[in-house]
Amino acid sequence: MPRFGIAMKQMRNGFLSSQFDGNGGRWRSKRLGELGSSIFSEVSQWKREAMANGMDVIDLGIGSPDKPPSEAVRKTLAEAALRLDNYMYPAIKSDVPFKETAARWMDHRFGVKCDPGAEMVTLLGSQDGLAHLAMAICDPGDIVLLPDPGYPIYAASLALAGVQPVMMPLREENGYLPNLDAISEEVWRSAKFLLVNYPNNPLSAIADLGFFHKLLKKAELHDVLIVQDLAYSEMGFDGVVPPSILQVEGAFRYAVEFHSLSKSFNMAGCRIGFLAGNRDAVGSLRELKANIDYGAFYPVQEAGITALREAMENTGYERAGSLYERRRNRFVEALRRIGWEIELPKATMFLWAKLPEMKWGGNWDSRTFSQELLRKAGVVVIPGEAFGQEGKGFVRIALVEDEERLLEAAERIGAFIAG
Ligand SMILES: *Cc1c(COP(=O)(O)O)cnc(C)c1O
Repeated sequence: MPRFGIAMKQMRNGFLSSQFDGNGGRWRSKRLGELGSSIFSEVSQWKREAMANGMDVIDLGIGSPDKPPSEAVRKTLAEAALRLDNYMYPAIKSDVPFKETAARWMDHRFGVKCDPGAEMVTLLGSQDGLAHLAMAICDPGDIVLLPDPGYPIYAASLALAGVQPVMMPLREENGYLPNLDAISEEVWRSAKFLLVNYPNNPLSAIADLGFFHKLLKKAELHDVLIVQDLAYSEMGFDGVVPPSILQVEGAFRYAVEFHSLSKSFNMAGCRIGFLAGNRDAVGSLRELKANIDYGAFYPVQEAGITALREAMENTGYERAGSLYERRRNRFVEALRRIGWEIELPKATMFLWAKLPEMKWGGNWDSRTFSQELLRKAGVVVIPGEAFGQEGKGFVRIALVEDEERLLEAAERIGAFIAG
């Protein structure tokens, strides 16, 4: 009873709700304050407020596919979940079948040959690996090069590991690629790894093998590991087929690459992924993870095998990119009609949109734009600075609703901009 009393009192004071927002009070490390998730929790708070006011909210903020995996994938998962031998720690059963299938898919899709034993590690979603990689291969005080803007876990993983980030601005004039020649010799010499993500979230930019080749030359010169995040490999548009950095001759000496089934096969709710590439880096991550988790739930591994097989056999499989390409075409066209010109992205499920001028002159700041758009029009978009300093003046719009809702969103945005 007394505990209940205390809880009620805290609830009244708003203490508990602020705890759930992650803005915490007691028992909270300083490290958590460096994770940079505050803008995302702010946006969720704005959304809750809008919904509480009875607003019909169209959420183009979240980066989660809105479609389920294929029927074969769901069947595999369901049947495997009923089998009695799937409830030990998965590590006991081994993840060799999943890794072998993933290795075959790497060969099928990219012509890259990986040794599943030494050059691959299974992940509970690629974010698991992204979160832990710095801890596995860096020491406190080390330096790592990160893209700005960038997917938030990159900087968060460094904060967790006590590693120092050096930001590489990604700007329009460079095709949103980092300017490798602008990085000082000193930084190159002391950096442990350099992270890139193409196709890029949130920028939707792509890189070709020429860029990866140049990057690996620098890596070799300075003995720096290259980490490439290829979460959007199956989401190229207009015939663009995103390459793997591991396609570059000799890449395994200096590169690792993250793969995820979340976006490619709509498996975000039963996530699984893998890291492939340099065996020392892969081995370090495997060693760390052996201390933390005991493998991905076996039915999820089996479902992943089915997804990769379907892609290789081209049965019942619609490439994730086709859906987002259709949505992109309709939505960008609708935005043009309301006077907001956005360049057609070549990949991913996001639009990286430079904010229009305000009707009464001057420029929006992206946080205010997002907040006002949500409050007045009920459309959620993410302020660009949630991904880093360089994101100011932009918002990220995710194409995660069907075409009809996207057109409705465009109309509401039009009315909002027109004031
Ligand atoms: C969604 C996403 C991931 C995470 O994928 P999971 O495999 O679900 O952890 C990784 N990187 C980027 C850039 C993403 O957008």
